Amino acid sequence: MHLEIEPVPSSFRKAIPHDVLNLAFGSVFTDHMFTMQYSGGIWHSAKIEPYHPLLIDPAALVLHYGQGIFEGLKAYRRGERIFLFRPRMNLERMNRSAERMVMPQINSDFVLSSLEQLLTIEKEWIPTQNGTSLYIRPTMIATEPKLGVKPSDDYLFFILLSPVGPYFKEGFRPVGIYVADQHVRAAEGGTGQAKTIGNYAASLLASTIAKQAGYSQVLWLDAKERRYLEEVGTMNIFVVFDDEIVTPPLRGTILPGITRDSVLTLLKHWGYTATERLLSIEEVLDGLTSGKIKEIFGCGTAAIIAPVGRLHYQDKTYTIASESIGPLSQRLFDELTGIQCGERDDPFGWVRVVNESG
Ligand SMILES: *Cc1c(COP(=O)(O)O)cnc(C)c1O
Repeated sequence: MHLEIEPVPSSFRKAIPHDVLNLAFGSVFTDHMFTMQYSGGIWHSAKIEPYHPLLIDPAALVLHYGQGIFEGLKAYRRGERIFLFRPRMNLERMNRSAERMVMPQINSDFVLSSLEQLLTIEKEWIPTQNGTSLYIRPTMIATEPKLGVKPSDDYLFFILLSPVGPYFKEGFRPVGIYVADQHVRAAEGGTGQAKTIGNYAASLLASTIAKQAGYSQVLWLDAKERRYLEEVGTMNIFVVFDDEIVTPPLRGTILPGITRDSVLTLLKHWGYTATERLLSIEEVLDGLTSGKIKEIFGCGTAAIIAPVGRLHYQDKTYTIASESIGPLSQRLFDELTGIQCGERDDPFGWVRVVNESG
């Protein structure tokens, strides 16, 4: 497919923010965006164009029935070099989300090369300071105007870019999590493993309750027994026992995180026993009381690693690692961010250097 490029004239370009560390996450967008359209069974009209509001029909299916999916990844820059972290995994996961939501597949080679052109055009927007990056948001929405519930015939795919600092306003500091026992995120057979927009709307009530109680994220339990840990808000979760590191298994209810996969790989590489298994809230509370649990952390593209300092469950609050950053959380954070911005060895070939891929 041909990619048309319509650059923003330089006199119309926005001021690039200098103090990215203090920007609210995802609140500023670059000058250009990528768009392509799907109709008549094919993707067409691929374009890099000025960032602009969308004109969609008020009957567009996405607005009524939530047929929409997205992804999240980051670009880093050191000097002239631009780095992406495992971008193909994001595009493959987007195609799996598309399959679950009866949406069309994208050509990941074409989308990746379009993204790389967009990043090259927006290079000056990629911040270079430690702890900053350019967040990339690929999105696909159903645009056919129709009030009947059915898969759309037409779609819009777009990519937005946003310079970001740390996801949590605390920065890389322990966060508090609130175990939801009134609400659930996803049941087996549902859409929990897809990055589909409705999952996040459905999470807002529990996260509002958590925020009112002073916690930044919700820890979800399984829908059937309300007993087994699932994941945290926009992150997967790891619990570090004295002899084993545990993360919940992929049973179709949680997002298969790329950071989760990277953490599991690093832990095994470093010689730890890292297990994907069911982990009940009782086992966690026992481990916290007995001291067998040394650390708990969340992991995802936005926050990378988020150490958990406090956990709230049914009117009781537990502290973890005296609310300090545990050594393993610190090591994983340093290693992952070091690999992502090209400053550390990349033994698993995770990093893609944009300007050198040809
Ligand atoms: C995106 C996301 C994650 C993290 O996935 P990464 O690929 O590591 O960014 C975890 N849980 C949910 C619900 C998510 O939406």
